[in-house]
Amino acid sequence: WGTGYIRTISPYVGGRPIAEVAREIGMDESRIVKLASNENPLGMSPAARRAVMDALTETPRYPDNDGYALRQALAAHLGLPADWIVLGHGSSDILEMAARALLSESDSCVYSQYGFIVYQLAVQQAGARHIVVPARDYGHDLQAMAAAIEPSTRLVYLANPNNPTGTLACAADIAAFMEQVPPDVVVMLDEAYVEYLDPGLRTDSLALLRKHPNLVVSRTFSKAYGLAGLRIGYAAAHPALADVLNRVRSAFNTSTVAQAAALAALGDEDFLRRAVDVNRAGMAQFVAAFDALGLRHLPSHGNFVLVRMGDDEQAGNRINAALVKQGVIVRPVGNYGLGPWLRISVGTEAENARCIDALRAALAA
Ligand code: PMP
Repeated sequence: WGTGYIRTISPYVGGRPIAEVAREIGMDESRIVKLASNENPLGMSPAARRAVMDALTETPRYPDNDGYALRQALAAHLGLPADWIVLGHGSSDILEMAARALLSESDSCVYSQYGFIVYQLAVQQAGARHIVVPARDYGHDLQAMAAAIEPSTRLVYLANPNNPTGTLACAADIAAFMEQVPPDVVVMLDEAYVEYLDPGLRTDSLALLRKHPNLVVSRTFSKAYGLAGLRIGYAAAHPALADVLNRVRSAFNTSTVAQAAALAALGDEDFLRRAVDVNRAGMAQFVAAFDALGLRHLPSHGNFVLVRMGDDEQAGNRINAALVKQGVIVRPVGNYGLGPWLRISVGTEAENARCIDALRAALAA
């Protein structure tokens, strides 16, 4: 089926399902620890849970295609008019909309080595050319990325912080980068993990939006807000660019339940603070354990950390297999060209401790 080209497109590969691993190793599902998908270990806020329950008691009409109430709330939250906001079925949907709307086969897209994998997949789906800029110290080399833009370039993807490396570009460098990008090239600034950043480390992306009509800022409810399974994210952009994204948005792309949950989650700042605190404590727990085990790790600004398991390309897979046998699921990152590393999401204190114990046993074997 399909043309030859479709076979060159890689499917997205997520973390291994708990049920599958439980069956494979003969362990009860409740005992499996999954730290593989950068999820929020607190689950969702009680307010969001109530909103989900309420939404489920109503007749399941079609969702509001434009998400009126949520877009109004996001607009108020961000201090922007509502026509600057686009809703996505997760923020991956937003990333894909940009590729669909802006890239055709004669165009190119710039992104960084180790940039979030969905960029590569979205460009493949559009049939456009990839300009992959070598990373510097595992982070984005913004100077080199600006220099790599060609006349055919229509789109740049930039994750800040980046997944899977956890690296962060500083506000001044992002602002300088935007000055260098030609006005007819769209920059998708992917801020999926922005809520985890100390305020002092954040880029004022809303100020940049007002200055640069070629900027899209994408964010998600999947991480700090804990709604990954409901699939909802959003973008903010100048209305002319938001309009272009909306033209390729699938009909009813966000569900009634997801819209209701996101609206409630946005208002639950207490939960958000707790999520950020748990992440900070869990990150410190992992860093201390990695240091004690003599494992190299990259300083991370997200809710996950990249840790090096050895020097050969199979080191990550080898340790991963040993972790799976103990009921701990983390994420190998060989598909990023990071075979020696594993990406571990920060969980609760108890989940992190299980992971650390399993890691110690795997390294000793
Ligand atoms: N951007 C980055 C950098 C991510 O790591 C992720 C999730 N892995 C996403 C976007 C997409 O997340 P979602 O579609 O759940 O919003």
